[in-house]
Amino acid sequence: MNRIETILNELTEITKNPTKAVEDFTKKTGKGAVGVMPVYAPEEIIHAAGYLPVGIWGGQGSIKKARTYLPPFACSIMQSVMEKQIEGAYDNLKAVLISVPCDTLKCISQKWKGTSPTITFTHPQNRKIEGANKFLVEEFKIIKNKLETILDLEITDEAIEKSIEIYNENRNVTREFVKIAAEYPHVIDPINRHAVVKSRYFMEKAQHTALVRELNEEITKIEKKEWKGKKVVLTGITAEPDELLEIFKEYDIAIAADDLAQESKQFRIDVPEGDDPLYRLAKWWQEFDGCSLATNVDKPRGQMLIDMVKENNADAVIICMMKFCDPEEFDYPIYYQQLQDASISNIYIEIDQETTSFEQIRTRINSFSEMLQDIV
Ligand code: SF4
Repeated sequence: MNRIETILNELTEITKNPTKAVEDFTKKTGKGAVGVMPVYAPEEIIHAAGYLPVGIWGGQGSIKKARTYLPPFACSIMQSVMEKQIEGAYDNLKAVLISVPCDTLKCISQKWKGTSPTITFTHPQNRKIEGANKFLVEEFKIIKNKLETILDLEITDEAIEKSIEIYNENRNVTREFVKIAAEYPHVIDPINRHAVVKSRYFMEKAQHTALVRELNEEITKIEKKEWKGKKVVLTGITAEPDELLEIFKEYDIAIAADDLAQESKQFRIDVPEGDDPLYRLAKWWQEFDGCSLATNVDKPRGQMLIDMVKENNADAVIICMMKFCDPEEFDYPIYYQQLQDASISNIYIEIDQETTSFEQIRTRINSFSEMLQDIV
């Protein structure tokens, strides 16, 4: 097994068994993990406390008990998170951080069924005014104070500054990886690509950075090959599970870039420079754009997708629509029209964490890839 395979296997194992990742971290550091609910949160504050921020993204499986607390039309990912909460999957976390940019998350923050204490905060939606930064700094101070109480320690500004630097370095190296993955689709398939990106939710960021940097170096030693298949840009919340990514692989569809909340949107931009670490984290939210959860009345997402397609020589956009996600469904008609006007091929597929059969999606992707073959 060469070094590339070894690193990919290691990162894949971590994404498959986050509980073990938390146990290993706890054993090594004597500390523990703090859960971070989708989608955006100032993880750096948790990291600065010496604890492991762990992403909570649900997982594939049938929904039974969650129906007692959530209506059937709540989004698929939160149905799954609720099911796992009831099963106690998150009870090993010292606390859980919840931002509430949509109705479902507001509901989840009030109905948390796990035993870990929750810390709820709000991302302001009138984001482009200075008042939004001031408001968010106050929200982050509350998070910091609550974490200090729960974890019984002090989180200093110096430690947050250091964590921001570690996170920015990780953002940079992961951005580099997704670019390299697009240039080497014969080496990095959609499943491996997803594992490398997702593993950052369960690893101490400096450790993830070191492994991904080494991976980047190893891949770029290989000669590039012409890709005979098609290349796409993914947009949405997530493109899980692996069964879906397997279908892309089966039809020689490579990921040229992504616009997924679980993936590139997390590291598309750095936390900006500045003097006050909490203000820097707040500014990130102001400067960030192109997500249904970060209101911008100018609706830049469509143009951002068009630019992404052009810059990465992609053939199409695949819209990975989380089932019953209102914010994503509201954004869709606007950017769909922009993609149509720019003559960019696109297809809408539904992401459902309860699905066990992927035949319908396979048929649609098969026809879509055949249609793309006809467009030269
Ligand atoms: S943003 Fe969408 S996917 Fe995420 S919790 Fe809200 S409704 Fe669900």
